[in-house]
Amino acid sequence: MAGRDILVFYSEADPFEEWAAALAQALPDLDVRRHDAIDDPADVRYALVWKPPVGFFARFPNLALVINLGAGTDALIARDDLPTVPITRLSDPAMAQMMAGFVLFAVLRHARDIPAFEAGQRAREWRYVHPRAAATIRVGVLGLGELGGHAASELARQGFEVHGWSRTPKAIPGVACCSGGDALLPMLGKVEILVVMLPSTPRTRGLIGERELAALPRGAVLVNVARGDIVDEPALIAALQDGHLGGATLDVFATEPLPADSPLWTMENVLVTPHVASAAIPATAAAQIAENIRRVRAGDRDIRHVADPARGY
Ligand code: NDP
Repeated sequence: MAGRDILVFYSEADPFEEWAAALAQALPDLDVRRHDAIDDPADVRYALVWKPPVGFFARFPNLALVINLGAGTDALIARDDLPTVPITRLSDPAMAQMMAGFVLFAVLRHARDIPAFEAGQRAREWRYVHPRAAATIRVGVLGLGELGGHAASELARQGFEVHGWSRTPKAIPGVACCSGGDALLPMLGKVEILVVMLPSTPRTRGLIGERELAALPRGAVLVNVARGDIVDEPALIAALQDGHLGGATLDVFATEPLPADSPLWTMENVLVTPHVASAAIPATAAAQIAENIRRVRAGDRDIRHVADPARGY
């Protein structure tokens, strides 16, 4: 058995020093190392990772816990080189708040006609559009989990008429909730701004295709902050080009980075952001990682925030 108790960190995007400092505060006796600073791989018991290279886990024979450095576990649980240990994800109120902020920004931007004013400004034209009350604007949220549920509540707090859709029934104050496959198309028919907040799973990949986009009222707007593969991108581009969709705010894409030749880059009615809607925040997320590590150390099988490969997320 390993002599030390090391957490190995791998992410091309997240700040190692911030994570090491936050974890040191949450669990002072944990040895946190960057993946390229491991002397004896047998000492590694925990892996905090975002998209590690293929073969990464095989280096560490004594792993007891893998923590996905984010909320979406799709890239991790689809791998065929995972160790047979609990795979957990981050579940962090601060991440939900950051996401809700982005969703509010995107929805308000469309609801308050900002793209029209931006275009007017470029043309030096005073394009007056009379403001509409939020209560007259129907917003749909697909996925009512930790991020989607919170964003839906925040949208309701802004006064929008909010409709939410999930796999199993939910009750969220101020949100008209529905669930299951049969409820999707009727819900799409009602909303003029649709926010995609589903995980990418075998059941949700390609879920929003030509038929679903056609079900939205003409001129509707799509906001995707979840995963690019949930929406059929060619169908989305066609719907934006032919005017059925009035616009889109897209933070995620079928291929990331979005290829330079994608028509989405240059569409007037599309805002492209580089997968930044939310991020794991070390100061707030470290505590739950520390808690799970304490449980592993104590031999407690009740590990929190476990991703379920059978469910798909
Ligand atoms: P959760 O797992 O907490 O919630 C997922 C929600 O989707 C649940 O309400 C679930 O329903 C619903 N759902 C899952 N499958 C289906 C289905 N087949 N039909 C209908 N509803 C379904 O996820 P989070 O809210 O934490 O995160 C959502 C996604 O956001 C992540 O998976 C990730 O991909 C993305 N994300 C994007 C970021 C960005 O920066 N752009 C940052 C962080 C996350 P039920 O509860 O009934 O199971």
